[in-house]
Amino acid sequence: MGPGCVLSPLLFNLIAVTAMKTLQIVWHPHPALRWKCREVTRIDAELRGLVQQMFDLMYAARGVGLAANQVGLPYRLFVINPEGDPEQKDQEMVFLNPRITRRKGSEEDEEGCLSLPEIHASVTRATQIVVDAFDLSGRQFEVVMEDFPARVVQHEYDHIEGLMFTDRLSPAALGKLTPMLTDLEVQFRARQKEGLIGTDDELKAELQALEKLRT
Ligand code: ZN
Repeated sequence: MGPGCVLSPLLFNLIAVTAMKTLQIVWHPHPALRWKCREVTRIDAELRGLVQQMFDLMYAARGVGLAANQVGLPYRLFVINPEGDPEQKDQEMVFLNPRITRRKGSEEDEEGCLSLPEIHASVTRATQIVVDAFDLSGRQFEVVMEDFPARVVQHEYDHIEGLMFTDRLSPAALGKLTPMLTDLEVQFRARQKEGLIGTDDELKAELQALEKLRT
């Protein structure tokens, strides 16, 4: 092997960027789901491409929201379409570096999660919230949201904080889901053992590298 076989840092970066172009939804207990995401400091064409992929993955999985760390990106960013309909582009919203500044009321309703396939439970959320965030053109906006869209935003906001809806359940409600959660854990560890997924340490190192690229 000659020196030409050594990867230059630039080439390594390109590989990392290329790897980012094929996103996949990760399932519990992928460490990305427990990552406290960092603020995005750079909006560019690549980020817009990643966001488009997130919408595509969300629709393909019949979801209404998707957070960046659910596709292995450690950024404070999520997308929603409360109608879940790709034809209704006017319902799409992108939240970059969001903050929930007010929460009012409380309501219980059933939730699911694209990272917890087949698992559903009743979760208590605020009925009305005020959110401020940036859009993909870098403009800051503030929005008042109610009922289902407010629930979706609170669920996705939890994700970028490293929380899952199962963290909000009573011990009894969580207990009922334990066999299904254990199943997912067993499957995940088996795929790690087969080398189809990296080890937890490798996955965390990847998240740290992606963090450096954009935060
Ligand atoms: Zn979720």
